[in-house]
Parts: sequence; structure tokens; C-alpha cells
Amino acid sequence: NSEAKSEQQSQTFIRSPIVVVLGHVDAGKTTLLDKIRGTAVAKREPGTMTQHIGASFLPWKALESICGDLLNRIKAEIIIPGFLVIDTPGHEAFSNLRKRGGSIADIAILVVDVQRGLEQQTFEAIDILRERKVPFVVAVNKIDRIPGWKSFPDKPFIESFQKQEPSVQFRLEEFLSYIIQQFNSLGFRADRYDRVRDFTKVLALVPLSALTGEGVPDLMLVLAGLAQRYLKKRLETKISSGRGVLLELKEEVGLGTTATLILYDGVIKRGDLVVTGGLNGPIVTRVRSLLMPKPLDEMRSPEDKFQEVKEVVAAAGVKLVAEGLEEAIAGAPLYVVTNESEIEKFSKLVEEEIKGVKFEKDVVGVVVKADTLGTLEALIGFLKKNNIPIRVADIGPVARRDLVHALMVKEKDPLYAAILAFNVKILPEAKEEAAMNGIPIFWGNIMYRLVEDFQAWHQAQREQAIKAAFQKLTPPAVVQILPGYVFRRRDPIIVGVKVITGRIRSGVPLITKTGKEIGEIMQIREHENVLEYASEGAEVAISIRSKAMVGRQVNEGDYLYSDIPLDQINTLLEKYDKYLTENERNYLKKLLRFKMGLSSSIEYP
Ligand code: GDP
Repeated sequence: NSEAKSEQQSQTFIRSPIVVVLGHVDAGKTTLLDKIRGTAVAKREPGTMTQHIGASFLPWKALESICGDLLNRIKAEIIIPGFLVIDTPGHEAFSNLRKRGGSIADIAILVVDVQRGLEQQTFEAIDILRERKVPFVVAVNKIDRIPGWKSFPDKPFIESFQKQEPSVQFRLEEFLSYIIQQFNSLGFRADRYDRVRDFTKVLALVPLSALTGEGVPDLMLVLAGLAQRYLKKRLETKISSGRGVLLELKEEVGLGTTATLILYDGVIKRGDLVVTGGLNGPIVTRVRSLLMPKPLDEMRSPEDKFQEVKEVVAAAGVKLVAEGLEEAIAGAPLYVVTNESEIEKFSKLVEEEIKGVKFEKDVVGVVVKADTLGTLEALIGFLKKNNIPIRVADIGPVARRDLVHALMVKEKDPLYAAILAFNVKILPEAKEEAAMNGIPIFWGNIMYRLVEDFQAWHQAQREQAIKAAFQKLTPPAVVQILPGYVFRRRDPIIVGVKVITGRIRSGVPLITKTGKEIGEIMQIREHENVLEYASEGAEVAISIRSKAMVGRQVNEGDYLYSDIPLDQINTLLEKYDKYLTENERNYLKKLLRFKMGLSSSIEYP
């Protein structure tokens, strides 16, 4: 009915956007977060809580004092209360801010080192931001390191820039144009933020120094502008049952397992019934308490760091204390249930969402274990992009069960019999079993490195397997009987030969130019030594088990050829071409012609 509707509408409000920081290691993510956090605390507004759990709140008033005159540039009415900045930078936290098909992060700051440009993890971050459709701003960091740069701490970039020497300005522009080019090659248009007209079409680059703070006001301004103009719809929320995601699980003395809940919609209250995801299915539990950090000046001891709150409104980061959280999965969604009749609906929702990530298929592929739902999902995406098939994708430590899967895979294709463990424990019995069965367990906490490690192993194994198969085939080889080196004329024939082409080994059947069978090589000798192989150019003695006789079917100075069946000639030429020398290839082609009846003798060499 319309009355209820209008009441609901009257309770709609605009929440703070949730901001995450991503970028390559050492780009300056932590430093930038510290700067932003420091600002938030320094410009604390009475009545606003700047420190949340897992996040920091930057109220609009604080922004006003940071941005100063710059604010006039965005000319928008101020509607967002501020920013909720997630405290942990990087992929893992971002991955756990997941929502089906997207992210609960509203905006990301991608930190790039001005002098280094885009690096490995920057590319990775761009990929996941694209995939989850999160708009981002690029913080081009460490401008204070540009030779000759004069720092103006905490000033807007555009002010600081104007005060630099022209040659220094030019240097910065050069670095920027390189970064712009890198973005162009990824299909993005990008420009210095003050030259961008349409922020939905062109990526904004904000040059700054996380260390000195110059340019940070500009960054905040661009974020605010983006949020106000383009995210308004997304930021609308109601005073209704809350929705959030478990960013992290943490053991707290006296409290048991607690969760860092990032609430992105609605409200959560003490005593609320909530549904979230657990290792063994959905968890239905009641909020025992909601904790926020106590302001520093009220903290009496390190144990006294939290204060209870009755309710929390989105967007917020809060510590959730409830029974059953030891089973919970980081990255799982959390729903506040206002009506018990909805428990089933929400449980199903949670279950589907988790099943959408975890799986077990009867295919030949690797076993993947990750610590959280978010990292598992990101890892699956990464493996798919690299065309690596997955048999099991699950959360939790590497256990014996995982080896059962790997062993089944080993029977079909040993190249995929491997376990990829992302930031999880490997149980001792699993480790033992893996070692016993030659199943490698790759462990890592940087996604691309973990996948690279697996790929390197996979590639090496593959090469080895190919080489082994190649070496089982009859090798292409041609030898010439050296005149004057006939030691025995009949079975076994013993002659001195020169290897003209390829490589001989024992067991290789030899024929004459016209295809007459001479016999198999028994042994290769060089002086007193028995050789396994003799390669092109070598002069060795060979013994041949033979019905033929030197002087009759074969003579001094004659060429002898390795006799390769037709199907093997084709296999060699098609599959193992890269292992063949030019001479071997030519010989195989001549032998093929002869075997196909296209020539009456082997016209080689
Ligand atoms: P993260 O790995 O991306 O979190 O990078 P950090 O924030 O830990 O920074 C890596 C290093 O770069 C540290 O030694 C920082 O002090 C330094 N750093 C970060 N930002 C700046 C900056 O703007 N200017 C300068 N000169 N150094 C910086």
C-alpha cells in the first residue's frame, strides 16, 4: 500500500561508498592508507566514528577541510556522508568483498609507482576490477621522488605542480604519458584527472605522494565526484535488514571466533538473527554483540580496545560476535533476517552463492584449496584464464581427501596431478601422502606466483614426457662404413662407422640404400668404452646382429640407414619436429619418399 511505501521511501538515505586500495607490492598502498587514516583521525568530527573494524571512515567534513578550494570544482551538492575505506589493501581483501557477479566495493584506488608504471600485480588488479565492474581512480604515487621535485606537504597536486621547475613538470608529464600509453594498450582511455571531462569514459590519473600528502586532496576530490555523480543509485539504501560480507575471521581472547563484517546495506542490531556461509553449509545464528574500536583516548589497556554498540548502519565495518562463527567462511555473504519465516530463503541464497564457487567435478584437473571464498573465486578465475582445468575447488587446509582426488587424476594425466594451496595449511598426513605418491603441493600467498609455479612444473613435466616418448621412437640416423675398418664380416658384423646424420643407439635396425635389411645395432664402442649413443660426426665401432655379409650385401664406404616404420616417420615429422635437426628432418623426408615408393633408393646424403 502507498502509505507503507512512502514511509519506506522517506527512510531512504545515501550511504558512504566503500573504497578499496589495490596495486603492485611496494607501490605505496599501505602508506596511502595510513595517510588517509591519519587524516580521518586528525579531522575527527564530534559524533562520527572514524575508526571502524577493518575500515576507516572519512567523514565529509574532514574532506572539506582537506580539499579546501578544490571542492568548488565538483560543484555538486554534497550527499555522501563520507568514505568507508577498507584498511587492508590488496587483492585478498578485495576478493572477499565479493557479491555474486560483482563486488561490494564501490570504488577502487589503484596505486601505481610513477617511475615504474604498471607492473605485474597492477595488471592483475585491473583484471579483477574489470571483471567485477568496479570503477577506479589511479593514484600515481611517489611524485616526490621525481628528481628536482619540491614538496608541498598535503597541498593539492595542481598547486604543487604549478610551483615546480618546467623541467620537473616535463619529467612528470613524461612518466604520465608512459602510464597513459600502458593503459591505452589495455583498451582504456586515461588522462591526468584535471584534463578529464567524462569520468565514465576516461580513467583519471591523480599524481600524488602518499608520503608527503600532496595530491591526496585531489584524489579525495575525484573519488567524491565519481561517487556523487555516478554511483548515486548504487549508494541508496534503506533503514531495513542489513546485508554484508564477512571480510575476515579472527580469534579474540574471551570472545572466540569473531567476524569482521562489512555492512553495505541496511542496518544490523544486537540480537538480530543472521544467516551466513559456513564450511558445512549455511550458519543461522544470533548477533551476541557488535563491537567497534574504542577511541584511543578512552582505551585503558590493550585488552580494552572495543566498545559495544547497539546497532550499525551501512556502510560500516564492525566486529560481529556470535555463536558458530568458527565454521564461517571469509568472503561469505551475511543477511539479517527480520522474520523467522525467511530463514529458509536466505539459507538457500547463501548456499547457492557458496556452491557457485566451491565445486568438485569428475574431470582431469588440479585440486585448488584456498583460505576464503573470495580468494578461491579469484584463483578459479585466474586458472581459467590460463586454461588450467580444475577438479576440486574448496576452502580449508590440504587434507588427505585432496590427495585421493590428485591420485585419481594422476592415473589419467600426471601433468595435472597437483595441488594448489593458497594461504592454507597443509595437514601433516597430506604432506606425507603427497611425498609418497610424487604429487606436488604448490603453496603460495600471491596468486600469480602460485599459478606460475604450477605452470613451470607442468611445462617441465610435459617436456620430459614428450622427450621420453620421442626417445622411444627409432631415431633418424645415417652412418657410413669407413673403408679399411671392417673388423668382422659376418654375424655379428663389426665395422668402424662415421655418424653422418642423427644419433645411433643399440637396437636401431639398419637398412641399405635400396632397403635391404642388414640387422640391429648391438653395441657401440669407442676404443675400449661402450657408448649408449653416438651422435653426428662421431667415429665409432658398431656390432650388428646380421644375416648379411660385408663384401656381399653391403660394402666398405656404403651408407646404412635407420629403418623407421612409416607411421613413426610421420609422428616424428609432425609431433617432434622441434627436436629434430635440419639433417635429421631431411633424411626423414628422403626415407618417407622411398618408403612411399616415390623413389627407388634412399637419395641421401
Ligand atoms: P605497499 O606494498 O604497496 O603497501 O607499499 P608501501 O606503502 O609499504 O610502500 C613501499 C615503500 O615505498 C615504503 O618504503 C614507503 O615508505 C615508500 N613510499 C610509499 N609511498 C611513497 C611516496 O609517495 N614517496 C616516497 N618517496 N616513498 C613512498
